[in-house]
Amino acid sequence: MTKTALITGITGQDGSYLTDLLLEKGYQVHGIVRRSSTFNTDRIDHVYKDPHESSNLHLHYGDLTDGQNMTNLVLDIQPDEIYNLGAQSHVRVSFDSPVYTVQTVGLGSLNVLEAARQLNKQKPTRVYQASSSEMFGDVIETPQTETTPFQPQSPYACAKVYAFHQTVNYRHAYDLFASNGILFNHESPRRGETFVTRKITRAATRIKLGLQDKLYLGNLDAKRDWGYAKDYVEGMWRILQHDEPDDFVLATGETQTIRQFLDYTFEALDLDWNKHVEIDPRYFRPTEVDLLLGDYSKAKAKLGWEPETSCKQLAELMVEHDLKLAKTELAQKSLS
Ligand code: NDP
Ligand code: GDP
Repeated sequence: MTKTALITGITGQDGSYLTDLLLEKGYQVHGIVRRSSTFNTDRIDHVYKDPHESSNLHLHYGDLTDGQNMTNLVLDIQPDEIYNLGAQSHVRVSFDSPVYTVQTVGLGSLNVLEAARQLNKQKPTRVYQASSSEMFGDVIETPQTETTPFQPQSPYACAKVYAFHQTVNYRHAYDLFASNGILFNHESPRRGETFVTRKITRAATRIKLGLQDKLYLGNLDAKRDWGYAKDYVEGMWRILQHDEPDDFVLATGETQTIRQFLDYTFEALDLDWNKHVEIDPRYFRPTEVDLLLGDYSKAKAKLGWEPETSCKQLAELMVEHDLKLAKTELAQKSLS
Protein backbone atom coordinates (compact mmCIF):
# COMPACT_ATOMS: atom_id res chain seq x y z
CA MET A 1 0.00 0.00 0.00
CA THR A 2 1.25 3.48 -0.82
CA LYS A 3 2.42 5.33 2.25
CA THR A 4 1.96 9.04 2.86
CA ALA A 5 4.64 11.13 4.54
CA LEU A 6 4.55 14.72 5.77
CA ILE A 7 7.86 16.60 6.01
CA THR A 8 8.33 19.87 7.86
CA GLY A 9 11.48 21.64 6.67
CA ILE A 10 11.13 20.09 3.20
CA THR A 11 12.96 23.03 1.60
CA GLY A 12 16.03 22.47 3.81
CA GLN A 13 19.07 20.26 3.24
CA ASP A 14 17.69 17.14 4.92
CA GLY A 15 14.10 17.68 3.79
CA SER A 16 15.22 17.71 0.16
CA TYR A 17 17.27 14.49 0.41
CA LEU A 18 14.49 12.78 2.36
CA THR A 19 12.03 13.82 -0.35
CA ASP A 20 14.26 12.22 -3.00
CA LEU A 21 14.45 9.02 -0.94
CA LEU A 22 10.73 8.75 -0.16
CA LEU A 23 9.70 9.49 -3.75
CA GLU A 24 12.07 6.71 -4.90
CA LYS A 25 10.32 4.42 -2.43
CA GLY A 26 6.91 5.26 -3.93
CA TYR A 27 5.60 7.46 -1.11
CA GLN A 28 3.13 10.28 -1.52
CA VAL A 29 5.20 13.11 -0.07
CA HIS A 30 3.67 16.24 1.45
CA GLY A 31 5.82 19.14 2.54
CA ILE A 32 5.28 22.34 4.47
CA VAL A 33 6.74 25.45 2.89
CA ARG A 34 6.96 28.87 4.48
CA ARG A 35 5.63 31.76 2.49
CA SER A 36 8.53 34.02 1.57
CA SER A 37 8.94 37.01 -0.72
CA THR A 38 11.40 35.09 -2.90
CA PHE A 39 11.29 31.45 -3.98
CA ASN A 40 12.70 29.12 -1.32
CA THR A 41 12.21 25.78 -3.07
CA ASP A 42 15.58 25.53 -4.89
CA ARG A 43 16.54 22.27 -3.22
CA ILE A 44 13.35 20.47 -4.29
CA ASP A 45 12.76 22.11 -7.67
CA HIS A 46 14.27 19.07 -9.44
CA VAL A 47 11.37 16.87 -8.20
CA TYR A 48 8.58 19.45 -8.09
CA LYS A 49 5.96 19.50 -10.85
CA ASP A 50 3.24 21.97 -11.64
CA PRO A 51 0.30 21.12 -9.32
CA HIS A 52 -1.91 20.75 -12.39
CA GLU A 53 0.14 17.73 -13.46
CA SER A 54 0.00 14.42 -11.65
CA SER A 55 2.70 14.28 -8.99
CA ASN A 56 3.60 12.42 -5.82
CA LEU A 57 4.96 15.59 -4.24
CA HIS A 58 2.49 18.04 -2.69
CA LEU A 59 3.43 21.35 -1.07
CA HIS A 60 1.39 23.27 1.49
CA TYR A 61 1.96 26.69 3.03
CA GLY A 62 2.47 26.56 6.75
CA ASP A 63 4.63 27.44 9.70
CA LEU A 64 5.67 25.40 12.70
CA THR A 65 4.82 28.25 15.05
CA ASP A 66 1.17 28.15 13.96
CA GLY A 67 -0.26 25.22 15.90
CA GLN A 68 -3.75 25.41 14.38
CA ASN A 69 -2.23 25.36 10.90
CA MET A 70 -0.14 22.29 11.77
CA THR A 71 -3.12 20.40 13.20
CA ASN A 72 -5.31 21.25 10.21
CA LEU A 73 -2.65 20.07 7.78
CA VAL A 74 -1.95 16.83 9.66
CA LEU A 75 -5.67 15.99 9.95
CA ASP A 76 -6.21 16.79 6.26
CA ILE A 77 -3.19 14.91 4.92
CA GLN A 78 -3.50 11.91 7.31
CA PRO A 79 0.19 10.98 7.01
CA ASP A 80 1.47 7.55 8.02
CA GLU A 81 4.80 9.15 8.86
CA ILE A 82 5.66 12.69 9.94
CA TYR A 83 9.27 13.90 9.73
CA ASN A 84 9.72 17.04 11.81
CA LEU A 85 12.83 18.59 10.26
CA GLY A 86 11.81 22.26 10.29
CA ALA A 87 13.90 24.53 12.50
CA GLN A 88 15.88 27.72 12.84
CA SER A 89 18.85 25.38 12.65
CA HIS A 90 21.85 27.71 12.94
CA VAL A 91 23.54 27.62 16.37
CA ARG A 92 25.28 31.03 16.07
CA VAL A 93 22.05 32.69 14.90
CA SER A 94 20.21 31.19 17.88
CA PHE A 95 22.23 33.50 20.15
CA ASP A 96 20.96 36.49 18.11
CA SER A 97 17.34 35.25 17.91
CA PRO A 98 16.83 33.03 20.95
CA VAL A 99 13.07 33.48 21.31
CA TYR A 100 12.33 32.83 17.64
CA THR A 101 14.64 29.79 17.75
CA VAL A 102 12.78 28.37 20.74
CA GLN A 103 9.45 29.10 19.06
CA THR A 104 10.31 27.09 15.95
CA VAL A 105 12.52 24.39 17.45
CA GLY A 106 10.83 23.93 20.82
CA LEU A 107 7.19 24.96 20.54
CA GLY A 108 7.12 24.09 16.83
CA SER A 109 7.95 20.49 17.71
CA LEU A 110 5.25 20.48 20.37
CA ASN A 111 2.77 21.71 17.74
CA VAL A 112 3.75 18.75 15.53
CA LEU A 113 3.39 16.28 18.40
CA GLU A 114 -0.02 17.70 19.35
CA ALA A 115 -1.20 17.44 15.76
CA ALA A 116 0.05 13.85 15.59
CA ARG A 117 -1.69 13.04 18.87
CA GLN A 118 -5.00 14.23 17.36
CA LEU A 119 -4.48 12.19 14.19
CA ASN A 120 -3.40 9.13 16.19
CA LYS A 121 -6.93 8.96 17.65
CA GLN A 122 -8.19 8.31 14.10
CA LYS A 123 -5.36 6.30 12.58
CA PRO A 124 -1.84 5.28 13.62
CA THR A 125 0.87 7.73 12.67
CA ARG A 126 4.61 7.85 13.37
CA VAL A 127 6.69 10.91 14.21
CA TYR A 128 10.41 11.45 13.62
CA GLN A 129 11.92 14.30 15.63
CA ALA A 130 15.16 15.83 14.30
CA SER A 131 17.19 15.89 17.48
CA SER A 132 20.79 17.02 17.47
CA SER A 133 24.22 16.17 18.83
CA GLU A 134 24.35 19.83 19.90
CA MET A 135 22.22 18.68 22.87
CA PHE A 136 25.36 17.05 24.36
CA GLY A 137 26.96 20.51 24.48
CA ASP A 138 29.60 20.64 27.18
CA VAL A 139 30.18 16.91 26.78
CA ILE A 140 30.73 14.74 29.82
CA GLU A 141 31.59 11.53 28.02
CA THR A 142 33.15 10.63 24.69
CA PRO A 143 31.97 9.13 22.43
CA GLN A 144 28.40 10.27 22.96
CA THR A 145 25.60 7.69 22.96
CA GLU A 146 21.83 7.66 23.48
CA THR A 147 22.44 7.63 27.26
CA THR A 148 24.99 10.47 27.47
CA PRO A 149 23.49 13.31 29.58
CA PHE A 150 22.64 16.55 27.78
CA GLN A 151 24.44 19.77 28.72
CA PRO A 152 23.19 22.18 26.01
CA GLN A 153 25.38 25.19 25.21
CA SER A 154 23.14 27.41 23.04
CA PRO A 155 19.51 28.57 22.76
CA TYR A 156 19.22 26.17 19.79
CA ALA A 157 20.49 23.21 21.80
CA CYS A 158 18.26 24.07 24.79
CA ALA A 159 15.23 24.10 22.49
CA LYS A 160 16.28 20.77 20.92
CA VAL A 161 16.57 19.23 24.41
CA TYR A 162 13.02 20.40 25.15
CA ALA A 163 11.74 18.88 21.90
CA PHE A 164 13.62 15.64 22.58
CA HIS A 165 11.97 15.23 25.98
CA GLN A 166 8.51 16.14 24.66
CA THR A 167 8.91 13.47 21.99
CA VAL A 168 9.76 10.83 24.60
CA ASN A 169 6.92 12.07 26.81
CA TYR A 170 4.33 11.84 24.00
CA ARG A 171 5.54 8.29 23.39
CA HIS A 172 4.97 7.37 27.03
CA ALA A 173 1.89 9.47 27.78
CA TYR A 174 -0.16 8.87 24.62
CA ASP A 175 1.34 5.67 23.21
CA LEU A 176 2.34 7.67 20.11
CA PHE A 177 5.02 6.17 17.85
CA ALA A 178 7.44 9.07 18.33
CA SER A 179 11.20 8.62 17.85
CA ASN A 180 14.25 10.86 18.10
CA GLY A 181 17.14 10.68 15.70
CA ILE A 182 20.12 12.26 17.52
CA LEU A 183 22.05 13.26 14.43
CA PHE A 184 25.63 14.48 14.46
CA ASN A 185 26.58 17.17 11.93
CA HIS A 186 25.83 16.15 8.39
CA GLU A 187 26.70 18.12 5.32
CA SER A 188 26.36 18.02 1.54
CA PRO A 189 26.41 20.23 -1.53
CA ARG A 190 22.91 21.28 -0.39
CA ARG A 191 24.14 22.47 3.05
CA GLY A 192 23.32 26.10 3.87
CA GLU A 193 26.22 28.37 2.93
CA THR A 194 26.70 29.81 6.42
CA PHE A 195 27.51 26.45 8.03
CA VAL A 196 31.25 26.03 8.33
CA THR A 197 31.81 23.14 5.88
CA ARG A 198 29.87 24.69 3.03
CA LYS A 199 31.29 28.13 3.79
CA ILE A 200 34.75 26.56 3.36
CA THR A 201 34.02 24.60 0.16
CA ARG A 202 32.27 27.57 -1.45
CA ALA A 203 35.10 29.95 -0.58
CA ALA A 204 37.94 27.57 -1.51
CA THR A 205 36.49 26.89 -4.95
CA ARG A 206 35.93 30.60 -5.55
CA ILE A 207 39.52 31.29 -4.42
CA LYS A 208 40.74 28.64 -6.87
CA LEU A 209 39.14 30.56 -9.73
CA GLY A 210 40.24 33.98 -8.51
CA LEU A 211 36.73 35.07 -7.53
CA GLN A 212 37.80 35.84 -3.94
CA ASP A 213 41.00 35.82 -1.93
CA LYS A 214 40.11 35.69 1.78
CA LEU A 215 37.96 33.41 3.91
CA TYR A 216 36.99 34.72 7.37
CA LEU A 217 36.27 32.08 10.01
CA GLY A 218 35.88 31.80 13.79
CA ASN A 219 37.09 28.98 16.06
CA LEU A 220 39.21 26.51 14.08
CA ASP A 221 39.81 24.14 17.00
CA ALA A 222 36.28 22.81 17.52
CA LYS A 223 35.88 19.14 16.61
CA ARG A 224 32.87 17.76 14.77
CA ASP A 225 31.72 14.31 13.69
CA TRP A 226 30.78 15.17 10.09
CA GLY A 227 28.79 12.77 7.88
CA TYR A 228 26.99 12.97 4.55
CA ALA A 229 23.33 14.09 4.69
CA LYS A 230 22.29 11.56 2.05
CA ASP A 231 23.45 8.69 4.30
CA TYR A 232 21.61 10.20 7.26
CA VAL A 233 18.14 10.54 5.69
CA GLU A 234 18.25 6.78 5.05
CA GLY A 235 18.77 6.44 8.82
CA MET A 236 15.77 8.71 9.55
CA TRP A 237 13.57 6.50 7.40
CA ARG A 238 14.86 3.34 9.10
CA ILE A 239 14.10 4.84 12.51
CA LEU A 240 10.43 5.11 11.56
CA GLN A 241 10.33 1.58 10.03
CA HIS A 242 11.62 0.02 13.28
CA ASP A 243 9.12 -2.17 15.12
CA GLU A 244 8.99 0.16 18.12
CA PRO A 245 9.62 3.86 18.78
CA ASP A 246 13.07 4.58 20.18
CA ASP A 247 15.96 7.07 20.13
CA PHE A 248 19.04 6.57 17.96
CA VAL A 249 22.39 8.27 17.44
CA LEU A 250 23.43 8.60 13.79
CA ALA A 251 27.11 9.54 13.44
CA THR A 252 30.33 8.44 11.73
CA GLY A 253 32.34 7.61 14.87
CA GLU A 254 35.16 9.92 13.71
CA THR A 255 35.90 13.51 14.63
CA GLN A 256 37.91 16.27 12.93
CA THR A 257 38.81 19.86 13.70
CA ILE A 258 37.80 22.72 11.40
CA ARG A 259 41.51 22.85 10.47
CA GLN A 260 41.33 19.27 9.20
CA PHE A 261 38.27 20.09 7.10
CA LEU A 262 40.23 23.04 5.70
CA ASP A 263 43.10 20.65 4.86
CA TYR A 264 40.80 18.21 3.02
CA THR A 265 39.16 21.00 1.05
CA PHE A 266 42.16 23.10 0.09
CA GLU A 267 44.33 20.04 -0.66
CA ALA A 268 41.66 18.80 -3.10
CA LEU A 269 42.17 22.10 -4.95
CA ASP A 270 45.97 22.14 -4.58
CA LEU A 271 45.82 25.28 -2.42
CA ASP A 272 47.28 26.25 0.98
CA TRP A 273 44.52 27.55 3.27
CA ASN A 274 47.03 29.34 5.54
CA LYS A 275 47.46 31.92 2.77
CA HIS A 276 43.73 32.68 2.61
CA VAL A 277 42.06 32.11 6.01
CA GLU A 278 41.73 34.93 8.53
CA ILE A 279 40.07 34.84 11.93
CA ASP A 280 37.11 37.14 12.53
CA PRO A 281 35.88 37.12 16.16
CA ARG A 282 32.33 37.82 14.99
CA TYR A 283 32.09 34.10 14.22
CA PHE A 284 32.98 33.07 17.80
CA ARG A 285 30.07 31.90 19.91
CA PRO A 286 29.33 33.04 23.48
CA THR A 287 29.53 29.36 24.46
CA GLU A 288 31.13 26.78 22.18
CA VAL A 289 30.72 23.01 21.81
CA ASP A 290 34.35 21.87 21.67
CA LEU A 291 34.07 18.20 20.78
CA LEU A 292 31.40 16.00 19.22
CA LEU A 293 32.00 12.32 18.49
CA GLY A 294 29.10 9.92 18.14
CA ASP A 295 28.75 6.20 18.79
CA TYR A 296 26.22 4.81 16.31
CA SER A 297 26.42 1.17 17.46
CA LYS A 298 22.76 1.04 18.55
CA ALA A 299 21.58 2.18 15.07
CA LYS A 300 23.93 -0.36 13.49
CA ALA A 301 22.67 -3.23 15.67
CA LYS A 302 18.93 -2.43 15.58
CA LEU A 303 18.47 -0.71 12.22
CA GLY A 304 21.37 -2.10 10.21
CA TRP A 305 22.38 1.52 9.52
CA GLU A 306 25.96 2.58 8.87
CA PRO A 307 27.45 5.74 7.33
CA GLU A 308 28.98 5.20 3.89
CA THR A 309 30.93 8.42 3.35
CA SER A 310 34.08 9.56 5.20
CA CYS A 311 34.67 13.21 6.05
CA LYS A 312 37.44 13.43 3.43
CA GLN A 313 35.14 11.98 0.74
CA LEU A 314 32.44 14.41 1.87
CA ALA A 315 34.79 17.40 1.51
CA GLU A 316 35.79 16.17 -1.95
CA LEU A 317 32.25 15.73 -3.22
CA MET A 318 31.32 19.18 -1.91
CA VAL A 319 34.39 20.65 -3.64
CA GLU A 320 33.45 18.96 -6.91
CA HIS A 321 29.94 20.45 -6.74
CA ASP A 322 31.04 23.93 -5.66
CA LEU A 323 33.76 24.11 -8.29
CA LYS A 324 31.05 23.77 -10.94
CA LEU A 325 29.10 26.58 -9.26
CA ALA A 326 32.19 28.78 -9.20
CA LYS A 327 32.90 28.05 -12.87
CA THR A 328 29.35 29.08 -13.79
CA GLU A 329 29.79 32.27 -11.77
CA LEU A 330 33.08 33.00 -13.53
CA ALA A 331 31.51 32.39 -16.95
CA GLN A 332 28.62 34.75 -16.13
CA LYS A 333 31.06 37.38 -14.91
CA SER A 334 33.09 37.26 -18.10
CA LEU A 335 29.89 37.69 -20.17
CA SER A 336 28.74 40.79 -18.26
P1 NDP B 1 18.07 23.58 7.20
O1 NDP B 1 18.39 24.83 7.93
O2 NDP B 1 18.74 23.31 5.90
O3 NDP B 1 16.50 23.52 6.93
C1 NDP B 1 15.58 23.96 7.89
C2 NDP B 1 14.20 23.87 7.31
O4 NDP B 1 13.25 24.31 8.29
C3 NDP B 1 13.96 24.73 6.06
O5 NDP B 1 13.10 24.04 5.20
C4 NDP B 1 13.26 25.95 6.65
O6 NDP B 1 12.46 26.63 5.71
C5 NDP B 1 12.38 25.27 7.68
N1 NDP B 1 11.87 26.17 8.70
C6 NDP B 1 12.55 27.08 9.43
N2 NDP B 1 11.72 27.73 10.26
C7 NDP B 1 10.48 27.23 10.05
C8 NDP B 1 9.20 27.50 10.58
N3 NDP B 1 9.03 28.42 11.51
N4 NDP B 1 8.15 26.78 10.11
C9 NDP B 1 8.32 25.84 9.15
N5 NDP B 1 9.50 25.54 8.61
C10 NDP B 1 10.57 26.22 9.06
O7 NDP B 1 18.33 22.37 8.22
P2 NDP B 1 18.83 20.88 7.92
O8 NDP B 1 18.09 20.34 6.78
O9 NDP B 1 20.31 20.86 7.93
O10 NDP B 1 18.37 20.14 9.26
C11 NDP B 1 17.11 19.49 9.36
C12 NDP B 1 16.76 19.33 10.84
O11 NDP B 1 17.74 18.52 11.48
C13 NDP B 1 16.71 20.63 11.61
O12 NDP B 1 15.71 20.51 12.59
C14 NDP B 1 18.07 20.71 12.27
O13 NDP B 1 18.02 21.50 13.44
C15 NDP B 1 18.30 19.24 12.57
N6 NDP B 1 19.68 18.84 12.66
C16 NDP B 1 20.54 19.12 11.63
C17 NDP B 1 21.84 18.71 11.67
C18 NDP B 1 22.78 18.97 10.54
O14 NDP B 1 23.99 18.77 10.74
N7 NDP B 1 22.31 19.36 9.37
C19 NDP B 1 22.36 17.96 12.84
C20 NDP B 1 21.34 17.62 13.81
C21 NDP B 1 20.06 18.07 13.71
P3 NDP B 1 13.08 27.80 4.75
O15 NDP B 1 13.72 27.05 3.59
O16 NDP B 1 11.90 28.58 4.37
O17 NDP B 1 14.09 28.54 5.56
P1 GDP C 1 27.14 23.51 14.39
O1 GDP C 1 28.04 22.44 14.90
O2 GDP C 1 25.73 23.07 14.24
O3 GDP C 1 27.26 24.78 15.15
O4 GDP C 1 27.61 23.76 12.86
P2 GDP C 1 28.44 24.94 12.18
O5 GDP C 1 28.85 24.44 10.84
O6 GDP C 1 27.66 26.22 12.21
O7 GDP C 1 29.71 25.12 13.11
C1 GDP C 1 30.60 24.05 13.34
C2 GDP C 1 31.80 24.57 14.11
O8 GDP C 1 32.56 25.44 13.26
C3 GDP C 1 31.48 25.38 15.35
O9 GDP C 1 32.35 24.96 16.38
C4 GDP C 1 31.82 26.80 14.95
O10 GDP C 1 32.25 27.63 16.04
C5 GDP C 1 32.96 26.56 14.00
N1 GDP C 1 33.19 27.69 13.07
C6 GDP C 1 34.39 28.33 12.88
N2 GDP C 1 34.24 29.32 12.00
C7 GDP C 1 32.94 29.32 11.62
C8 GDP C 1 32.19 30.14 10.72
O11 GDP C 1 32.69 31.06 10.10
N3 GDP C 1 30.86 29.83 10.56
C9 GDP C 1 30.27 28.79 11.24
N4 GDP C 1 28.98 28.52 11.01
N5 GDP C 1 30.96 28.02 12.12
C10 GDP C 1 32.28 28.29 12.30
